[in-house]
Amino acid sequence: MPSDRRMFLSAGLGVTAALASRASGLTTSAQAVSLESPPLPGDVSLDADARAATAHDFGRLIHRQPRGVLRPASSTDIATLMRWAKDHGVKVAARGQGHSIYGRALVENGIVVDMGAMNSIRDIKADRVVVDAGATWRDLFEATLAHGLTPPVLTNYLGLSIGGTIAVGGIGAASSRHGMQTDNVIALDVVTGDGNELSCSATENPDLFDSVRAGLGQCGIVTRATLRLERAPERIRRFQLFYRDLPSLTADQRRVLTEGRFDQLQGAVLPDGRGGWRYQLDGAVSYGSGSAPDDRAVLSGLSDERSAAVIADLTYREDALAFGKFENLLRSKGQWSNPQPWLLTFLRGSNAERVAGDILAGLTGDAVGPFGRITVYPLLTRAFRTPLVRLPAEDVVFVFNLIRIPASNDAAAAERMATENRALYDRIREAGGVLYPVSAFAMSPFDWEVHFTSGWPQLREAKRRYDPGHLLTPGYNVF
Ligand SMILES: Cc1cc2nc3c(=O)[nH]c(=O)nc-3n(C[C@H](O)[C@H](O)[C@H](O)COP(=O)(O)OP(=O)(O)OC[C@H]3O[C@@H](n4cnc5c(N)ncnc54)[C@H](O)[C@@H]3O)c2cc1C
Repeated sequence: MPSDRRMFLSAGLGVTAALASRASGLTTSAQAVSLESPPLPGDVSLDADARAATAHDFGRLIHRQPRGVLRPASSTDIATLMRWAKDHGVKVAARGQGHSIYGRALVENGIVVDMGAMNSIRDIKADRVVVDAGATWRDLFEATLAHGLTPPVLTNYLGLSIGGTIAVGGIGAASSRHGMQTDNVIALDVVTGDGNELSCSATENPDLFDSVRAGLGQCGIVTRATLRLERAPERIRRFQLFYRDLPSLTADQRRVLTEGRFDQLQGAVLPDGRGGWRYQLDGAVSYGSGSAPDDRAVLSGLSDERSAAVIADLTYREDALAFGKFENLLRSKGQWSNPQPWLLTFLRGSNAERVAGDILAGLTGDAVGPFGRITVYPLLTRAFRTPLVRLPAEDVVFVFNLIRIPASNDAAAAERMATENRALYDRIREAGGVLYPVSAFAMSPFDWEVHFTSGWPQLREAKRRYDPGHLLTPGYNVF
């Protein structure tokens, strides 16, 4: 096995992450940016570098040139901008860390609100933290861990902003126990599309609370969040187990999920470097000093190729930051900045093996690149309560993600993958599966209506109430 591949595998990564372009190759905005009327508010920067930096995202398939960038110092700055935008009918998109795929934080000829400067971590208590929405999960994690505390659900990659994951859900290896990050939000401060500064929670403006969490940035810009915390474990023992095929992997995943053997459970189908696949279960047990897990009990009765198993002990911090090694590897190979046409979905538990198996049979290792993967693992749905988070309506569903990391910066190939994503999504939807809205292909307003199903009337009504001018977050093409 090449050493880079080994490093990725041993980093214990269960990437849950994800692009497309239009017509020919990468979509670029041909329109010249209008700097003419209406005059911009004084604190909006017209700096060419700032505008260029916010004209693309991690996916690098879509390009939209904003006319200006606001770096707000306070929610009042954002409210002032939104009232100006409302008067002039100018579109606005918040930008956290720009790790969306397919232009979701971009706005052609509008204003990008770069949340990066609103990143203070304000008040850490035993059970909660108040944090500005532009902070990264990494900064929040480090600050809370210094108090022995952690958010219950961490994404695999912590370089995402609080506001950016609240807009989509925020799934992680502990989601079977604790749901999405949006399920662990206690309260939010929001600037709505019509420029009002409102607080919301389950009891205060609950319609806004339920429309902002996983609401794709359609109703407001989150400025501050109160998030649940719990005591952080000291250590993590990570078990990477390998299987000969998909059915034996998913059979053991189902078993350990039902029995609650692991505190974190993920898994993936990985290119084996010879045109085939390897099947990996990735489980982790948390423990403290003097209470190390009994490996024999953890592994008893499982059908993995035991001689290939990798068992590693890490501090909780090392484990949570492990994706950083993979990021550094991809950066060193120039692959972090290639187009990334990811597809993220959930399959029904009742047909996951068949649907995943059929799709896998039509793919080769090239489909995800040498460092990519197909994330496959089951989740218990009972901890998921955010109204706009969509999952198949079954007790067990399967994460099924094509983490495509092309080895080259080939726009036409990335375009083909985005087209293939659409076809795969249609098959998955036909089989009762659901999109995780971080994926590289175009969605129409009708697609979103079908996606949100029973949540659609709620989101449509909240849009009418809080962003009647349809100014916010045009990149998803929801309305
Ligand atoms: C390497 C990598 C790993 C990932 N791993 C995971 C993972 O483990 N689990 C997971 O769930 N997702 C994962 N993702 C997907 C990620 O959660 C989403 O793409 C997320 O939206 C990106 O957050 P960001 O801060 O970079 O947001 P941006 O790309 O800046 O914004 C994302 C969307 O949120 C909106 N937005 C940003 N800030 C705010 C705000 N304050 N208020 C309202 N709307 C706002 C934007 O307008 C945009 O529509 C991963 C992505 C990458 C690239």
